[in-house]
Amino acid sequence: MPIKEQKFIWSNGELIPWADAKVHVMTHALHYATSVFEGMRAYQIKNGHTVIFRNFEHIRRLFYSARVYRLPIRHSIEEIMQACRDVVRENGLKAAYIRPLVYLGYGEMGISAPHEKAETMIAAYPWGAYLGEEALKSGVDACISSWRRLAPDTMPAGVKASGNYLSSRLIALEARERGFGEGIGLDAAGTVSEGAGENLFVVMNGKLYTPPGASSILMGITRDTIITLAKSRGYEVVEQALTRESLYAADEMFMVGTAVEVTPVRSVDRLPIGSNNRPITT
Ligand code: PMP
Repeated sequence: MPIKEQKFIWSNGELIPWADAKVHVMTHALHYATSVFEGMRAYQIKNGHTVIFRNFEHIRRLFYSARVYRLPIRHSIEEIMQACRDVVRENGLKAAYIRPLVYLGYGEMGISAPHEKAETMIAAYPWGAYLGEEALKSGVDACISSWRRLAPDTMPAGVKASGNYLSSRLIALEARERGFGEGIGLDAAGTVSEGAGENLFVVMNGKLYTPPGASSILMGITRDTIITLAKSRGYEVVEQALTRESLYAADEMFMVGTAVEVTPVRSVDRLPIGSNNRPITT
């Protein structure tokens, strides 16, 4: 899906024309993936206002990600949250996907070279259903990837770092090359981790199950929302390691994340999930 160009990008404290938001080819992040980011959505709600879904939680995670890789952000959490609102408003967007990125810029090339400040940019643009409208409605056909997710002592999976998405890319490419809509990674222990860009839930006997943080997942904000909503409606939610086999045995299964929102999974490895009647997913 091509990016829909907008008027402005927020860059280090100011809104600049979209076409001027450029980096030098010797930018540290281009060479070593020294960057962390967020993906969030703004929605137009019933009263006509546009609101960012869990802005604070996303920007708090951005600061956590930046802290782990020692990327010194020049702004406060509140300033970045406000900048996200500004970039949506000033581009006249009613609903949007918002992409803040913190990266090491131009000047030093050593892998651990000190950078006094990291660069920060925020873009916003309209974005539809990540896996397509059809997947959102009828479910996605997923497969288990031959690529494992990051082992916990390789790179932190809970940090939303650009480099982690090389793993996601391999998983997603393999799935598409094999004719599936999305790929699921197992963790280093061989239990289920997450999709290339989304967390997973299965429903068995009326209970919801989802892999825990120790299964090399990104601790998704949508995942947290689903856990909260499910509990508030009286469902039991269990965070536990899941075997590949338990996906085949599920009554229902769905993927959650900012991009996919809540997308049903119709099959895993060509085995249909449940009866395709999905009361809890719905
Ligand atoms: N896991 C991965 C690997 C992701 O990239 C994402 C976000 N696209 C998620 C899970 C879901 O996280 P969130 O709900 O915070 O968007």
